[in-house]
Amino acid sequence: MTAAPDALPPLAGLQTARLDWRRDEGGEEAPHSRAFDDVYFSRHDGRAETEHVFIDANRLPERFAAWQGPRPFVIGETGFGTGLNMLCAWACFDAHASPHARLHLVSTEKFPLARDDLARALAAWPDLADRAARLVAQWPEPVAGVHRLWLDDRVTLDLHFGDTTERLERLDGRVDAWFLDGFAPSKNPEMWRPELFAAMATRSRPGATLATFTCAGTVKRGLAAAGFAWRKVPGFGRKREMLAGEIAESPADPRRTATPWFMPPAPRPARHVVVIGAGLAGTTTAAALARRGVAVTLVERETPGAGGSGNRQGALYVKLAAETNAQSRVYLAGLLYSRRWLALLDPERTLWDDCGVLQLATGEREARRQARFLAHHPLPESVVTGVDAGEASARAGVAIESTGLDYPGAGWVRPDLLCERLAATPGITLHRGEVTELTPTARPAHQGEGWTLSLGDGETLAADQVVVATAALANRFAQTEALPLQPIRGQVSAVGLPRGAEVPALSRVVCAGGYVPPAVDGVLCFGATFAPHDTDTTLREADHAANLAELEASLPNFTAALREAGVDLTPEHLDGRVAIRAASPDKTPYAGPVPDTPHWRDAYASLAKDARRIPDTPGAHHPGLWISAAHGSRGLASAPLCAEVIASRICDEPMPLEGALVDHLHPGRRLIRELITGQTNR
Ligand code: SAM
Repeated sequence: MTAAPDALPPLAGLQTARLDWRRDEGGEEAPHSRAFDDVYFSRHDGRAETEHVFIDANRLPERFAAWQGPRPFVIGETGFGTGLNMLCAWACFDAHASPHARLHLVSTEKFPLARDDLARALAAWPDLADRAARLVAQWPEPVAGVHRLWLDDRVTLDLHFGDTTERLERLDGRVDAWFLDGFAPSKNPEMWRPELFAAMATRSRPGATLATFTCAGTVKRGLAAAGFAWRKVPGFGRKREMLAGEIAESPADPRRTATPWFMPPAPRPARHVVVIGAGLAGTTTAAALARRGVAVTLVERETPGAGGSGNRQGALYVKLAAETNAQSRVYLAGLLYSRRWLALLDPERTLWDDCGVLQLATGEREARRQARFLAHHPLPESVVTGVDAGEASARAGVAIESTGLDYPGAGWVRPDLLCERLAATPGITLHRGEVTELTPTARPAHQGEGWTLSLGDGETLAADQVVVATAALANRFAQTEALPLQPIRGQVSAVGLPRGAEVPALSRVVCAGGYVPPAVDGVLCFGATFAPHDTDTTLREADHAANLAELEASLPNFTAALREAGVDLTPEHLDGRVAIRAASPDKTPYAGPVPDTPHWRDAYASLAKDARRIPDTPGAHHPGLWISAAHGSRGLASAPLCAEVIASRICDEPMPLEGALVDHLHPGRRLIRELITGQTNR
């Protein structure tokens, strides 16, 4: 039995593959799986086998050549292994597809190779070296979940780490061509189950093809039962036969019968999208759309990063719940994604630094919470690990007296510079102005409906679709007003460090009640205050004093050493900045389509009486209207991934998160909960 798709397994690390390097028939070294007692590929003819079995049997050269988009062509694979199949598909795409076509690769893997093994295995194919290097550089931590990699500007790879069937059941996306790989059914009967074929069927586009090296009876029966037509075709080398096939229609997604309200809106034209707000949420979404070839107008009433995203330094880190929940999963996925994405965007690390983040347990209660977290989450040490005071001191470079959690891959970012950099992405036009109203516009039928945006100065803009990303102001429009947002004032403090003096330096970001990143360009920032419902943006001495008190409490030795070095830590001499952040009631961001609230209230009113009788009406949304907001003070970890969630949906691509987590981010989640519990206020 497979688990219910929404009951996600514990957040955990995965066991990496254990390999032997054996000489193959040609006398060359090739990776061999100890657990499955089978080879990943043959050095002698592995490439030719991949081309024959997966590329040609799916007719990829001709399909790539004919592909017009606008959505990407999607390949789904069971068992990523060394990635050879996917790298070959990428090379085939480059050889045949038109310059504007895009390719999206989705692959599952339960036992990811260790990075060094991956590099060693792929070294077998010198002509794939550049592609292999891109893959190896972004190779994710062995953590169950979805990991999105940008192989190049038009090729995306989503690695779904975990068991194939379970992962495909959670996949929110559909596939054009399947590579049914994985070790032979005789060596890996667990994978080749009827549920696997059923999951493939529901995640297939009509007419999706498949190819597999095996002709085993279980595979033929499983495919047929799931609705795939298969035929035997000549196999590779000594294998006489293999299977190729297709599916005419895909069955309905069973997940949606339980949650029809989250059914995604049908894709619509997206040649020109207006993104409102040039903070982190808006600039990341604009850049995500622009890289997909969408023309974006980014409307901002001040300058990029002028609002909550304009601080000099922000901590890229997350605080994960002691017991796994959907929110923690989203944030961990977000942290891992942000880091990969930043490394590609800014390899020189001028905008950020993955120096690590130490989360101190300054009190008994937090120490217990952290211990519980570690006991429940067997994550790799490269992601998060518990440290005692000695280890914490060694890692942070200053004396620390408490235990803590260390996130070696987290760090700090300059959000002000990041927003500026993203707003300058080719394909984005920055437009100064304040949008006051959104009006749906009827257009000629073939263009679909669009939007007219009224600006404060009387100007108007037209767009196919609109993304609202204006933090605490995101619910100012008639269409978004039902989404609760709480403004939160936050003041950071900053102090210039004396030149030439022996000033102590942090080598990690240290968080306790607040956060302190290592100083940049001779300025040490620390903060921030947290004042819900306060929207005053003037600097307050009292807030500087509160930040100082927090600094003293969490890092007393460091603070004393700063004073000894002559740093003036008096509230009246501190500099700083105030920003208004926004949070949702459940503290998860809103990232997705904007629900048509009156429609939901009508369509789902019966749930208040009987929540088990689920209407089969899909939830209506304002067509082509999206929101990315409520990132609170964790936008560096959430906004880039939420941008992918929105851009992927707009562009009709597979989603970068498990379906349940995409639903968790849905802006209508609170509304449906209220309707079910009968607590809605009309
Ligand atoms: N496609 C690969 C390539 O291009 O290198 C070769 C795949 S290798 C023969 C089979 C892969 O399937 C292995 O990496 C193995 O760990 C993975 N695998 C086996 N059973 C699995 C399962 N139940 N779920 C996910 N991956 C699985």
